[in-house]
Amino acid sequence: MISKTFLKKGRLFLATIIFDLFLILCVMLLMRHTQDLLASDARLNLAEITKQNREGIANNIDLELKNQQLAARNLATKLEGDQIDAYEMNIALMALHGMSGQNLFVASRDGTVFIGLDEKAYDISDRQYFRRARSGKPNISNMLEDKTNGEKIFISSVPIYVQNKVIGTLQKRYLPQQLYSIIVPPLFSSKGRAYIISPNGTIIISSEEEDNDASRNLFLELNIYDDSDTNIQLRKDISQGKSGVFISETEDGHKIFSAYQKIKNAHDWILVTSINIEAISPHARQIIHQFYIILLVLCLVFGVTLIYIINLKQKERQELERLAFDDPITGGYTFNKLVASLPGIIANAPEAKSWHLLAFDIDKFRYINSFYGFDHGNFILREVCRKISSRLGPNEMLTHLWGDYFAALLCRDNPLQDDTLLAPLKTSWDMSISFSGGLYLITDPHENVRDMYDKASLATSMIKKDIHTSLNLYDDSLNQNLIKNEAMKHRILKAINEEEILPFFQPKVDIITGMIVGAEALARWRKPNGEMISPAEFIPICESSGLVVEVDLLIYRKVLEFIRRHLDLKHNCTPISVNFSRKHLEDGGFVEKLTHLLNKYKVPANLIELELTESLFYDNQKAIIDLVNELSKLDIKVSMDDFGTGYSSLSMLKDVHIDVLKIDQSFLRQSDQKEKRDIIFASIVSMATQLGINVVVEGVETEENVNLMLRCSCRVAQGYYYSKPLPPERFEDIYAQGSL
Ligand code: C2E
Ligand code: CA
Ligand code: CA
Repeated sequence: MISKTFLKKGRLFLATIIFDLFLILCVMLLMRHTQDLLASDARLNLAEITKQNREGIANNIDLELKNQQLAARNLATKLEGDQIDAYEMNIALMALHGMSGQNLFVASRDGTVFIGLDEKAYDISDRQYFRRARSGKPNISNMLEDKTNGEKIFISSVPIYVQNKVIGTLQKRYLPQQLYSIIVPPLFSSKGRAYIISPNGTIIISSEEEDNDASRNLFLELNIYDDSDTNIQLRKDISQGKSGVFISETEDGHKIFSAYQKIKNAHDWILVTSINIEAISPHARQIIHQFYIILLVLCLVFGVTLIYIINLKQKERQELERLAFDDPITGGYTFNKLVASLPGIIANAPEAKSWHLLAFDIDKFRYINSFYGFDHGNFILREVCRKISSRLGPNEMLTHLWGDYFAALLCRDNPLQDDTLLAPLKTSWDMSISFSGGLYLITDPHENVRDMYDKASLATSMIKKDIHTSLNLYDDSLNQNLIKNEAMKHRILKAINEEEILPFFQPKVDIITGMIVGAEALARWRKPNGEMISPAEFIPICESSGLVVEVDLLIYRKVLEFIRRHLDLKHNCTPISVNFSRKHLEDGGFVEKLTHLLNKYKVPANLIELELTESLFYDNQKAIIDLVNELSKLDIKVSMDDFGTGYSSLSMLKDVHIDVLKIDQSFLRQSDQKEKRDIIFASIVSMATQLGINVVVEGVETEENVNLMLRCSCRVAQGYYYSKPLPPERFEDIYAQGSL
């Protein structure tokens, strides 16, 4: 049995898994959310800082130029006249600033420059910054090469006014790093970097200490130089002076946050502020790490639970399969196993030519069970299972349904001709067991297996009557028979209601006196047109459908009416026997029904005899003993019909108090071993007589039969020798007279 705790545990772990999954999902969402928050914070901060820096730079440039203009005005006061040459201006400058003014130099209107104490004149008339300053516009140059020593420098230049006329320009010289520290405000973090770049990405100046190499390109360094659409667009945005934020990943795997903005009044310079993501918030990394650890732990718990559940489910499935597929009685498979695996087996053996479903059972297994008990019966089932299995080949499978019913899948050509398949078995204590089986040719492996079994077993039921074969093949005509039977059932029911079924009477004769000592009522179906239908045709259908109960009671009632009439006529009445099917035994109120009708017709009980077939006595001994005792108390006679056809057990006679033993006609037909038959016949008669049981011999057809009876002192005969079953109208007079 699958324990309840097994199922409970399963549910619990399933809940844990769902909870685990839920937690993992929550942590992942939270992580994502935190990352997004951190990123958007960083974006905002960086954009803000860049904006402030840009303003700062513009202000600083302005301030620097204003200071320089102040210095230019100062210098102008020292100069006289409007035709002052460069040399003199330089002297004046040096006088004002001394050597500390190294970075300053003046140019005359024609662009001549002297630097420091040097006597050499330089010409800067080709420099743009000079021209702009001369035309009155203070400005700062792009990166230039120093004419004196070739250094990379920047120059700021302002006009010198004397009497409102530009008489020359004052310049200041900056190394890139100097310019940077003057114009770029201190950054928010030492880990951040700021770059001033030209629209094509060339770094003009940067916060880095190292040499500002004019060949460095920020686009390359930030790894946004490729041809992807986003980077092309990004570079376009930057060069067009827009502002924005982006994330890029450098060659060495660092994620960099960058913000860009154009600087006002400084050529087309663009300020780019970049920072390594990890530097934005050192705790963010830590938080993310912690999230990862939680996630890992959750995944571990999830994994372990999952493995546990898979294991549990597997065990559950194995347990269920064991319960469903292992047969506790035979130790083999149950029919469910065949139902589950048949389509698979057939699909896996495409080379097999023909498949059959075999349904079979053990002949007369009822008797084995009644004689030897259930334990022995089960032992035989196990042995049958083992031995029949050993007759099967690969791809074939034997299964047990219930009782002595088995089903097998067969993969062989023409199993109908296979004599070995259901050949009788010898059990370990020499009992011979024979089988009856039906075959169904499988044409569609996906047909319901139970339907296949029903068809195969229909074929089995059709051979029961023919003892020479043990196998039969299903074909659709069998089903047609079934349909015919169904139609027959309806007609029988109608016949019962319209009392077309009536008793014929076959006299029982005392062979010595020739007097009638009784009769047997035998059912006949007489149609209004006079056509007669034998009970052999309709009784089996009545048996299988349960209608036999109605038929028996109808005959019984007609017999009671018959006797009542003769009693009323003051005739000397003899007992009349009525056949009762085994179906009545299943009905609790059987005896009450009998007595009720007896009372209704006021017929003395001793004029009625019940014929119960021999096999019934073995099927349910306890019930039959109780029934016979009850009937004998009521003075109703009971006869054991067809004695000698089943597993006749004389010993049974001492336990059941029957009044009459009807020896079956097959006894008289055994012509090959007459001597043996006579001995057995004599001993049966003698034993019955000793037990006080009357003997009636059925099927007496010849004088030879009568002589056998005479030899055995057996007096009552029933058979064609004396009379066939007679219609009531013909039997009336014979019964009244008491002789034929
Ligand atoms: P049964 O009870 O063994 O009835 C005896 C059968 O043997 C009758 O066949 C009878 O006609 C036949 N018979 C009698 N003498 C001879 C003879 O000398 N030679 C041969 N060859 N046959 C002889 P019937 O009437 O065809 O009945 C067949 C069976 O149908 C009965 O066998 C009985 O089992 C069943 N049956 C008949 N009427 C009823 C009934 O009302 N209720 C029930 N439940 N079964 C009935
Ligand atoms: Ca009978
Ligand atoms: Ca009989």
